[in-house]
Amino acid sequence: MKTLIIPSDQIPEAAAVIRRGGLVVFPTETVYGLGASAFNPVACTRIFTAKGRPSDNPLIVHIASWEQLDEVASEVSPEARQLAQAFWPGPLSLVLPKNPNVPDIVTAGLPTVAVRWPSNADAQKLLLEAGVPIAAPSANVSGAPSPTNFEMAKSAMLGRVEAILQGDDAEIGLESTIVAFPGGVPKVLRPGAVTVEQIAAVLSVDPESLPYQVPSEGRPVSPGLKYTHYKPEAEVQLFSQSAELLAWYQDDRKIGVLVLEGNLPENIPSAWEVLKFADWESYAKYLYASFHEMDEACCGLILAQLPPANGVGRAIANRLGKAAGKAV
Ligand code: AMP
Ligand code: MG
Repeated sequence: MKTLIIPSDQIPEAAAVIRRGGLVVFPTETVYGLGASAFNPVACTRIFTAKGRPSDNPLIVHIASWEQLDEVASEVSPEARQLAQAFWPGPLSLVLPKNPNVPDIVTAGLPTVAVRWPSNADAQKLLLEAGVPIAAPSANVSGAPSPTNFEMAKSAMLGRVEAILQGDDAEIGLESTIVAFPGGVPKVLRPGAVTVEQIAAVLSVDPESLPYQVPSEGRPVSPGLKYTHYKPEAEVQLFSQSAELLAWYQDDRKIGVLVLEGNLPENIPSAWEVLKFADWESYAKYLYASFHEMDEACCGLILAQLPPANGVGRAIANRLGKAAGKAV
């Protein structure tokens, strides 16, 4: 398939592709999305094919107005509304009872729909110009890290979609925080840049009550949670203290290191590719781009520093754990 590259001053052209039932890759503040009209089941089915995504893994529906919220959700509880008012537009997805307008393919047959109002200006223009909510997972092949810049999105999706909207690098670089209300109780299904601590403050609840524990039996509240995500081709190993790096000095693979500035031992092997970050926010922002860069550089092993599990660190630790195939 021929893929059109659309510059960000020609968003109406991308919106026309959405309205015609086409697939458009577009920038958001979290990661690049792979979008289709949320009301077009044929177009949404093509999202799953383009990504190689299992059909039981539901999509997030993107909106850019309160009217669009009512088009996709049938009910918004007071707690959900409080969170929407506090964090939208922004990197928070809310799982709400679905409006019958939303095709089953979007929600993988669930009675609920995940909804997000992105803050990225290009994404908002695309949504308003298209005039329909846009269902969009991340624009990567299923299981690989999400694209956080135009080049990554292009290398993942060229030839698989009608158009790619060329925008800026994602500001946050990690997928949205997902909040659901199983049994009416707020739960964070996936941590993100809107933190557990911020959500707890808005809802006046204990932050410890928010993280969702996947039950060992019964139907999972979020089918996507069972899939391995975010994995580069290289093996990923995690470390907390710089001294732990010593264990890898004799390893003969090409090694990449992701570390916060000031946390490296002095005598690390000169062949190692080291990426240093000023703080955890920029570590999050460039995490997936670093994975991509290290895969391109044929690293066999990536050693990634694990953040403390609070604030955005919780989201980074969650993605690193999945990339390393470990619970952290
Ligand atoms: P992404 O892969 O970033 O598009 O994120 C989509 C994830 O959102 C899925 O893998 C699910 O875990 C979650 N999700 C989407 N819709 C629902 C829903 N209706 N109920 C629970 N979780 C959902
Ligand atoms: Mg994804």
